[in-house]
Amino acid sequence: MGWFQWLRKKFNTEVGEASQVTPEPDSPAEKPTVSPSSSEAREPDEEQVKCADCRQTFVWENAYNQQDTPGSESFHPPGHGIFHPRAFCPHCGALVAEWDIDRQQDYDRWKWYGENAALNSARPLPPYPLLFWGKAMPNLSLASIDCKKIQIPAEASGSPEKLFWAVVGGNAAEVKIQLEAGVDPNIRNYVGETPLMLAAEKGHEEVARALLAGGAKVNDQEVYGRHTPLILATMEGHAALIRTLLEAGADPNLQNQFGKTALMLAKDKGHQDIEAMLHNAGVTG
Ligand SMILES: [Zn+2]
Repeated sequence: MGWFQWLRKKFNTEVGEASQVTPEPDSPAEKPTVSPSSSEAREPDEEQVKCADCRQTFVWENAYNQQDTPGSESFHPPGHGIFHPRAFCPHCGALVAEWDIDRQQDYDRWKWYGENAALNSARPLPPYPLLFWGKAMPNLSLASIDCKKIQIPAEASGSPEKLFWAVVGGNAAEVKIQLEAGVDPNIRNYVGETPLMLAAEKGHEEVARALLAGGAKVNDQEVYGRHTPLILATMEGHAALIRTLLEAGADPNLQNQFGKTALMLAKDKGHQDIEAMLHNAGVTG
């Protein structure tokens, strides 16, 4: 455990939900552990923070919580970046609150940024910076020290589950959204299938095109049956989709775990149109 993790764990144990309290390093360890999420229920509108930039509301749990500046992978000792916790709006990325350290007056505490102070005077500032709350900023999106608005990181809106559901449901528009949001087009589900394999099996041609355009590998093989997308489409007789896969460079000579190629399976299933197509694609076996 790095010292930062140790510190976080220690603070989570000792500070609990008392977000504004400065922890005493030597306080006894028998204090109860309280996670921030178990805090007492407050009135919903009291918890909602209003962003001065986009005027939308949110709770701290959903805000972007950046503790460090670029140059530090996490909270390192001096010389490796600056410990400068900031909270950014989850809707527009604007800076809403920042950790204010005053060495002269010896205090550190959250303060609202700009107009947010007047807009949120009755609302709580963020939880203590070393507690677990909010969304962490991916390293690539870390905001510089003067940054007042972050680019919402793409990973935040992407969801592998949503991608798989969109593929199965034939929803090409949603597939594009998820890929643009940064979901890996070659991600595998719990049985080792890629989205393109599922699209091939279901015959969703538009979805397959979206996946291929987004970087899906056309010749990846299933974990168990070693089926390729081309083999799966052939077994189900999806001629139009097979044409798409061949155009994208699908290798018709790859075999599944039973030594069957797409052509053999087309013959087995009696798909003569597909057989012809595979022949024309240069099948050698
Ligand atoms: Zn905003």
